[in-house]
Amino acid sequence: MDILAHGLCTSAAAILLARRAATPIRLGWALFFGVLPDLASFTVPAVLRIWWRLTGVTSTLLPQPGGPRLDWVFGLYNCFHSLLIFGVVFTAVWIIVRKPVWELLGWLLHIAIDIPTHTGWFAIQSLWPVSSFHFDGIPWETGWLLAATYTSLAAAFHCLWRTRARPANSAPTQSHPH
Ligand SMILES: [Zn+2]
Repeated sequence: MDILAHGLCTSAAAILLARRAATPIRLGWALFFGVLPDLASFTVPAVLRIWWRLTGVTSTLLPQPGGPRLDWVFGLYNCFHSLLIFGVVFTAVWIIVRKPVWELLGWLLHIAIDIPTHTGWFAIQSLWPVSSFHFDGIPWETGWLLAATYTSLAAAFHCLWRTRARPANSAPTQSHPH
């Protein structure tokens, strides 16, 4: 799933959870953690590639044979797409702040969606660094899958909008003393 779809999907899930959960869910933080794995993996390399292009180190924004290599990006990618690392962070934060931080589940949702929608170099090693086991899924950029993703997201937001909370009394409000 691309980062925009991840953001929309996390937002929809967080809005739904916020309606049902007893504790408030901060949508901004849920959204942040929902895109964190890709932001953390790709922001630095993107900035570096733009910098190298601007300073003439490379002649293209794309990786080139013989050009600077960014092998460590895969370390970051694997780290932020690992269920084990997520579990450790979620538990550590829970212990530190003495309550579960539900917004972190946006991160878990990101990994859960990426596992069946990545293949090859970008296949998700969900048990990294203990195991490099991975599942070759259907690439998210496959035409029909991309269409299905955005159709589902549009349907989800339509449902959320249709079922949004409305004021109990839609008549013109009058201020009255409490
Ligand atoms: Zn991802």
